[in-house]
Amino acid sequence: MKKVFVLIVAFLCLIFSLPFFFNSSPKNKKPLIVCTTSIIADVVHFIIDGHMDVKTLMGPGVDPHVYRPRESDVQALSCADVIFYNGLHLEGKMADMFAHMQDRVPTIAVADALCTNDYIASEFEGLYDPHIWHDVSLWAQVVPCICQAICQLDPEHALRYEKNARDYMDTLHALDACVQKTVALIPAEKRELLTAHDAFNYFGHRYGFKVVGLQGISTDAVVSTRDIQKMADRIARKKIPAIFLESSIPSKSIEAVQNAVTARGWHVAIAPELFSDSLGDKSTTADTYCGMIKHNVDVIVDSLTC
Ligand SMILES: [Zn+2]
Repeated sequence: MKKVFVLIVAFLCLIFSLPFFFNSSPKNKKPLIVCTTSIIADVVHFIIDGHMDVKTLMGPGVDPHVYRPRESDVQALSCADVIFYNGLHLEGKMADMFAHMQDRVPTIAVADALCTNDYIASEFEGLYDPHIWHDVSLWAQVVPCICQAICQLDPEHALRYEKNARDYMDTLHALDACVQKTVALIPAEKRELLTAHDAFNYFGHRYGFKVVGLQGISTDAVVSTRDIQKMADRIARKKIPAIFLESSIPSKSIEAVQNAVTARGWHVAIAPELFSDSLGDKSTTADTYCGMIKHNVDVIVDSLTC
């Protein structure tokens, strides 16, 4: 009798588990794209238009330079059908991991889509500045590279993905023209962008700003008293009206600069934060790439023309 009972229970378990097995079969599962930054994920979302699953490892306000992968990230990466990361050592603590991933799954550094001539040198010998997305015309160049990998993953819908990519590139070219027009409101001699770390060199190069970062290319570096004094000297001497906070960097060092400028007899305002290395959250207008660029440009123009 006991044996019959066990058999019935086993049979019922098998019946109830069938839907689970069918639902989770690879045939019914959407491909999974894993992106390191929210900035890359925004391009992906625009192209796939809901046809695939996307997991973004670094959310709003997360600093990619010092980010270490969590257990859930490793799990997501191991299930990914394609992985997009920025490259140029932006994700400094994850470089080895991506090198290992290469053999198992397409693992694409989107910065590789650019020509070496487009890169800006960093303060580290032989390495380039990774913040390419702040030049909208350059960021448009990564779109075809992302689209190509997506089409290889789902060739059946390639025409749709290619159309979405073309539309997005048109949007980015229009945005680039709009940024050029807007920054022209700032007199050339006032185009100095002083920020917490050196994230805006590509922005400065494209749109005609002198850019000075307190911390250098990576936020991994330590800010010294000498760095603070040097920036304060520059601001007081040139009577610069504003310095800028960044969403993924603590405000302490920028406040120290402001105090040092006050001690030199000049007042520098701390402007609203710029989004440098991640998009904003849903409560901001910077929760898309285009929204982030518009926010940054508006803040810069408002702060430097007052
Ligand atoms: Zn950065």
